[in-house]
Amino acid sequence: MRLRNVTGSREVIAESRFVVPEETLKEMPGKWKELFGNQHPIHIEIGMGKGQFLHAMAKDHPSINYVGIEKYSTVLLRAVQKMEQEELPNLKFIRMDAEEIAEVFGAGEVARIYLNFSDPWPKDRHAKRRLPSREFLARYDRILAADGRIEFKTDNRALFDFAVEELEPAGWQAKAITYDLHADPVLMEGNVMTEYEEKFSAMGNPICKYVITR
Ligand code: SAM
Repeated sequence: MRLRNVTGSREVIAESRFVVPEETLKEMPGKWKELFGNQHPIHIEIGMGKGQFLHAMAKDHPSINYVGIEKYSTVLLRAVQKMEQEELPNLKFIRMDAEEIAEVFGAGEVARIYLNFSDPWPKDRHAKRRLPSREFLARYDRILAADGRIEFKTDNRALFDFAVEELEPAGWQAKAITYDLHADPVLMEGNVMTEYEEKFSAMGNPICKYVITR
């Protein structure tokens, strides 16, 4: 996913009106609705990649505000370019490491969190870096509304099994779980494919998904 040698991606991002400036992020808790200029709920995707999923979601759901979070400017650049081609008023981006997410959104400010095809970090010693780990669940707990939920999709069965095992010790519960999303008519309703979902399902990999709440 990391695209190297994309000249000037940091500069393009720093100047883009679609990206919330890094230097203002620490002032943002409690101010996201003001930024969008309405009271619509805020849904975020962490590890958005090139933004295919979130752009489609924002287009399909104009009464939801979406924020995409991506660590690498070279990848985020692709999402910014898509917005330049087709601008949407209800979609903004942040370039940051999600470890700092609880310093950027206020308590209960986010109504839903999407994790799609998160990096697996297969070594045990890197488990804390996995986006569905208990350490990250504790961060999400701080920013998610009381009735908020997290939706996680992946084709990586080992990562998914890990994510499911993290739920109970972290105080979360699964509202829905499937090990073959594309064969599940209920969970497939309204499903928007991510870039990685298209790629891996075309290879025949089943897609796992959970929906969790506290
Ligand atoms: N969600 C997209 C999809 O399903 O097509 C992209 C999946 S890609 C495998 C994972 C993305 O998450 C990469 O672009 C990576 O840079 C980003 N990422 C991984 N860890 C992150 C973190 N701690 N904070 C922000 N972004 C992260």
